Amino acid sequence: MLKKNILNFTLAAWEKAVEEIKLPRFRATQVWDWIYNKRVFTFADMSNISLATKEELEKHFCIDLPLIDDKNVASSADGSQKFLLTTTDGAVIESMVMYANDRVTICLSSMVGCPLRCAFCATGTEIGFVRMLDACEIIGQLFAVEKYLKNKVTSIVFMGMGEPLLNLANTKIVLENLLSPNACAYSRNAITLSTAGIAPVIAPLINKYRIRLAVSLHFPTDAQRSQYMPVNCTHGLKELFTALKQVKLEGNDYITIEYIMLKDINDSLDHARALVKICSHIKVKFNLIPYNKIASFEGEPSSQKTIDAFTAFLLAKGFRVSMRHSRGTDISGGCGQFALKKDTHTIIDD
Ligand code: SF4
Repeated sequence: MLKKNILNFTLAAWEKAVEEIKLPRFRATQVWDWIYNKRVFTFADMSNISLATKEELEKHFCIDLPLIDDKNVASSADGSQKFLLTTTDGAVIESMVMYANDRVTICLSSMVGCPLRCAFCATGTEIGFVRMLDACEIIGQLFAVEKYLKNKVTSIVFMGMGEPLLNLANTKIVLENLLSPNACAYSRNAITLSTAGIAPVIAPLINKYRIRLAVSLHFPTDAQRSQYMPVNCTHGLKELFTALKQVKLEGNDYITIEYIMLKDINDSLDHARALVKICSHIKVKFNLIPYNKIASFEGEPSSQKTIDAFTAFLLAKGFRVSMRHSRGTDISGGCGQFALKKDTHTIIDD
């Protein structure tokens, strides 16, 4: 019998599953507490559960995490770490951990590879799409990395391999469990989801969970965005910005607009002007991202002088602007660089 991974359940679904095997509901709460409050992932170590109950649970369920091998943890000069994790079927996924002040942030993958094929991204162009990750494999990255580091992760970004809004059912289960006071109990401000622009599901999802939203925009016109980000051919800028206007922002909330700076492609003041125009009716903050070179794309990073001029233009128009310090570029862990390099070997070929 194929065992079900408990990390694929919300608490309500887990209670139902426990009742279906004729165990009392309080057993579900006990196991849940071991997993989410004590971070214990083996039934054998759950000391308040009888041997007979453990055996019954073992017959039907598992709590497998993706595996981390010491050899597949790379540390960057800037302190960030890249983890290659292996799932139970042998697929390999990447997670990054970044440190800033007291914050420990993990960047989670939602797929093995990605079908969206953004031209400047190694995941989309060098790996392509392999498969969706189950909820247990997404939240499992967090638990496996915390276990490895013996440290708690304080914030979570869905910015690794894959488009989380194309893996919607599993992303929702993970968000439920990250936010639930009965599970991980993260604050909504500790979680950021980044999307390339799957317009129809953005507002319903963000308005339901009230987490932070980042949009990988990168190009301010349909012609250019469709050229470099094929998702724009399906969900163009008009549809995307109509969706963004439907996102309910509270208090100081804003939408982060991610913009990768590509020399002579999207970094002129005309581009900045076009960007201001399309973003002018939404509360946004711009996050300018230095381009990390990948083999499959011929673009070059913008010069610092160009980035400074672009930034100054946006600031003068009254927008908030931050410059992302790309982490882990020396270990291929920067934005767009995730391509499953294990030592010198490529694990998944095209
Ligand atoms: S940038 Fe994001 S959405 Fe685009 S191909 Fe890469 S992983 Fe997919």
